[in-house]
Amino acid sequence: MSLLELDLSKTIDKRWAHQNALSSFATVHIEPPSKPIQMPQIHPKTDPTVMNTVLEWHGAKSIKVNKRPRPLITEPKDAIIHVTSTTVCGSDLHLYHNEFAGLEKNDILGHECMGIIESVGSGVKNVKVGDRVVVSAIISCGECQYCTQGLFSLCDYTNPSKEMEKNYGHHIAGVFGYSHLLGGYDGCQAEYVRVPFADVNTLKITSDVKDEKVLFLSDIICTGWQATVLGGVQEGTTVAVWGCGPVGLMSVMWSRYRGAKKIVAIDCYEERLEKARSQGAETINFSKTDTLKTLQQLIPGGPDICIDAAGFRFAKGVAHQLQRGLQLETDTPEILREAIMACRKGGTISVVGDYYSTANQFPIGALMEKGLTIRCGQLHAQSYWHDLLKIVEDGKIDPTFVITHTMPLEQGDDAYKMFDEKEDGAIKIVLKTKAAK
Ligand SMILES: [Zn+2]
Ligand SMILES: [Zn+2]
Repeated sequence: MSLLELDLSKTIDKRWAHQNALSSFATVHIEPPSKPIQMPQIHPKTDPTVMNTVLEWHGAKSIKVNKRPRPLITEPKDAIIHVTSTTVCGSDLHLYHNEFAGLEKNDILGHECMGIIESVGSGVKNVKVGDRVVVSAIISCGECQYCTQGLFSLCDYTNPSKEMEKNYGHHIAGVFGYSHLLGGYDGCQAEYVRVPFADVNTLKITSDVKDEKVLFLSDIICTGWQATVLGGVQEGTTVAVWGCGPVGLMSVMWSRYRGAKKIVAIDCYEERLEKARSQGAETINFSKTDTLKTLQQLIPGGPDICIDAAGFRFAKGVAHQLQRGLQLETDTPEILREAIMACRKGGTISVVGDYYSTANQFPIGALMEKGLTIRCGQLHAQSYWHDLLKIVEDGKIDPTFVITHTMPLEQGDDAYKMFDEKEDGAIKIVLKTKAAK
């Protein structure tokens, strides 16, 4: 790794640290805006004369390709994107398994896409018709007390869910195609998508870089980066990553980029472990060997940073399989437990895998007594996607190593099944619309 690369990563961190409170232990006071910001309408106006091919959720393991009227500009800050590429995210599988609340039949899924701007509202200033853009998974207003601190996924004005408020005490930002708990917006596994607050939620691509290299700036490139920011990965640190799905692999890639001395990736699928090795990680296949013992051998004393890129659904032992089955808990704490047990004293646990509600037997004692820090959250894509785009365009990283399959959007139902069952070694599937060149 060149010095230049490390310098760049430090520059980004400094800027980010300046922008918000997550990069230090300081908790800054955040004042609400002096005048309230208008929550966008959730359901767009539509044009029944032009059909939009979309992927709809119809229940557990049931995705259907359907035709719906095309969305239209509904508010001044909207843009309509003619999608060229979209993809299925690991977190979409929580919806696919119907293990996340707030889904309704016919909901359009998808939160990672890019394409060409088809039309813009009168209030859009930064992008225009014909621009090629990546769309952020997270819908942010860009103006509230959280957005202006760079904490875009905590935006106060894009998610009207009262249920989330009841369950979490607050609501976070809306997310495209991710249930009514996260706003109920139409997703972007579609030919056309309406993007509210388009100035904030689109990233203009001016170079002729291929879709595949920049598409994941919607989510997984930024989420993997955030995992390393939350963990404080820097030159000489040791890192363990649980889960080698696309986000885990991006976390490995960025840990190496930021100069980690040793990276250990943990999963049970050989194809995914192989990808992690291609990015400089040593690997543990937990179906063949004891994770904690092996990790102790590879990193005596424990990793400085433990990244959970797996999340709530993956119960390993009978006890938690049973508790989840009986709905005594929604989330298994087993991966977090392993991370807490493995982490060196005073280390940091960075959680970017999704957690949904509550977990039993969470090892609060080990967490406290070992002086560990847990940092977590959904991605603040817009905080760093400009800088990460430059790194991609300069060819310093190539995120396309995660792509295993490319399919037409019309085969989206098959793509979900393949991705879920890891058929044919599926790790990341790009879906192309007819508008793709
Ligand atoms: Zn995602
Ligand atoms: Zn906001």
